[in-house]
Amino acid sequence: MKAEIISVGTELLLGDIVNTNAQFISQKLSELGFDVYYQTTVGDNEERLKKAIKNAFERADLIITTGGLGPTKDDLTKETIAKYFNKKLILHNESFDKLKFFFKDKKMTENNKKQCYFPEGATIIQNKNGTAPGCIIEKNDKIAILLPGPPKEMKPMFLNTVFPYLKKQTNEILFSKILRVIGVGESEAETLIKSLIENQNNPTIAPYAKDGEMFFRITAKAKNKMEALELINPISKKIKDILKNNVYAEGNTPIEEVVAKLLIEKNLKISVAESCTGGMVSSKLINYPGISSVFLEGIVTYSNESKINRLNVSKKTLETYGAISKQVAKEMVEGIVKNSNSNIGLSTTGIAGPSGGTKEKPVGLVYIGIYINGKTIIKKLNLHGNREKIRSRTTKIILDQLRR
Ligand code: ATP
Ligand code: MG
Repeated sequence: MKAEIISVGTELLLGDIVNTNAQFISQKLSELGFDVYYQTTVGDNEERLKKAIKNAFERADLIITTGGLGPTKDDLTKETIAKYFNKKLILHNESFDKLKFFFKDKKMTENNKKQCYFPEGATIIQNKNGTAPGCIIEKNDKIAILLPGPPKEMKPMFLNTVFPYLKKQTNEILFSKILRVIGVGESEAETLIKSLIENQNNPTIAPYAKDGEMFFRITAKAKNKMEALELINPISKKIKDILKNNVYAEGNTPIEEVVAKLLIEKNLKISVAESCTGGMVSSKLINYPGISSVFLEGIVTYSNESKINRLNVSKKTLETYGAISKQVAKEMVEGIVKNSNSNIGLSTTGIAGPSGGTKEKPVGLVYIGIYINGKTIIKKLNLHGNREKIRSRTTKIILDQLRR
């Protein structure tokens, strides 16, 4: 079943507020198995709202609107929907009684009463957190659900009334599994499983990149979670066969958790010396509760002096090769391991940009050092993106090295 969301409010178009309602409702509709192909945002303008409703109903069976249910003249969602469905607005006495009770110590103006008029035959959705109730209107297989704009009012109404109502309308659910990937670039990963993506419609496979890693969302439509998993698992296995060891976890498990658990399990003490990542690597590891048993220290040695004084990087190495070099990455990691007496060491040195790059050493050039099993491994990375992205990618990649 297809559904669309229409967010009503000029303030949304002006960029005054973020459209969190559409995000929330889209997530819920997807959970319920509805296909949402369009979200529309429209100002408080009757003509344009009318058009938006007409367009949406040409494509979808269900429309959910938020906003424009208030008492003022520019709140006209109900009025416009009523016209579209060719229904009269009639006073809902129960809502009016409630409103009168709400205003018992305050002055109620005539336009407040407007909030208690609904299209004939509508099911009223109570609003326990505000004055504007919502409603559900059905006509000829089309459904319109009208909800108020304030998220604090809209969300409980959706969860308590709309969600169970919609659940009855559909016997399908959408269920997703996410595979997390570090070590292959976005386009490379996509190319590798291109034919798989193209030949799939249930489940679908959606690759996307975020915070320096790749995700593959596998989504199945089915009657229940068990059936969805039966569709998802074989595809998940195929992707893992193709991307191999680069798939490091599923769902919400971040790389630091995978790595921290390994370190704790094997009781391997770790220390970190960072330059371009500025503490991100340490910070990620320390995100994991329980890391204190193995994390010894992390220091940010940003200047040459600090690399010399804190890590015993030699002045000569710095002068000969420059701070962004495999030699310095090596001396950094060996320095921190020696000073902290750890089993494992990590180091980062690179050019995060936006300035500071040269032809020989462009922005995105990063050396990472990993000291493990008594050996030092240096990797050269050529990363793209802004400063934040280069730093977070470096962090993900170096942590990922520890599980390989
Ligand atoms: P009210 O009775 O409060 O006037 P309403 O149904 O008329 O409710 P609007 O006037 O359109 O709703 O919006 C009221 C407030 O709700 C907005 O000022 C904004 O803070 C919030 N709001 C409206 N729409 C959205 C949205 N799509 N996402 C997030 N917040 C929203
Ligand atoms: Mg309003």
